[in-house]
Amino acid sequence: MPADRDQPLAPGLYLVATPIGNLEDITLRALRILRSADRIACEDTRQTQKLLNHFEIKVPTVSYHMHNELTRTDELIEALKAGARIAIVSDAGTHGIADPGGQIATAAIAAGISVFPVPGANAVISGLIASGLPTDSFTFHGFLPAKGGQRKTALEALVRDGSTHIFYEAPHRIEDTLADIETVFGPAQHVVIARELTKLHEEFLRATVAELRTTLSARTIRGEMVLLLAPAPAEAPTQQVQTSIAAAVATLMQASGSTEMDALKRVARERGIGKSEAYRELQREQNRRK
Ligand code: SAM
Repeated sequence: MPADRDQPLAPGLYLVATPIGNLEDITLRALRILRSADRIACEDTRQTQKLLNHFEIKVPTVSYHMHNELTRTDELIEALKAGARIAIVSDAGTHGIADPGGQIATAAIAAGISVFPVPGANAVISGLIASGLPTDSFTFHGFLPAKGGQRKTALEALVRDGSTHIFYEAPHRIEDTLADIETVFGPAQHVVIARELTKLHEEFLRATVAELRTTLSARTIRGEMVLLLAPAPAEAPTQQVQTSIAAAVATLMQASGSTEMDALKRVARERGIGKSEAYRELQREQNRRK
């Protein structure tokens, strides 16, 4: 039991995690702090009010979101300086993880105010621990860029990084993202989609990206989701004789339906050479064959 359970709440800012679906996923400490705070700052007061009603918590709420972050931060910092106990929550999960309103903790620390983490549910960690992928080294990237070109560039940067990569993704973008993953990592890349975590329709889809694309072409996927993949780590260069670049590009285009340029980029990456070098070699091979 925490030593402070019967003590009045100390002044300061409390970053309180709330459930990501299942209302039982709130800690006893989070409930005590929400009940004892002077004020609860919320990403969306209506959303948080449902949670407060469920647990019969009657504490005033105030909105704190990306549109009033600047003015509200000043206001909250003034109240904190005067000794207030303020809890801050996002719509769901751990405040500050891919949520708007991340400034408040930094501003409070700069103002010499105590900041207390109140840990709990989080979609990244929940998805990771049940994904079956390595958990010893992982990177959370938030949401991938919405634009295809930028998304592919972001994925390409991860090709040689063998840790587990975790993204938040929206249902209307998942199919495009999987297509980009197939182009960048190849059809055999193992991918996990962790959907509707802790909720009634929780589901884990674990398969190669090619299989997942086939599955999703035949059904609609809804709800909130986390996307995970662990690319094979970069291999040390070997003395093996490699197939020609032209042959490798042709095989890849046939297997994944990617364009010549995408296939060339991937072959270059796999061989640890630059795009231009690979392109020049491709041209040399094609000229030799003429
Ligand atoms: N702060 C939250 C946390 O701690 O996980 C994340 C907030 S972020 C704005 C919302 C995104 O998190 C969703 O679009 C989805 O990708 C992911 N997410 C949130 N709840 C989820 C759930 N129950 N199952 C799967 N993904 C979830």
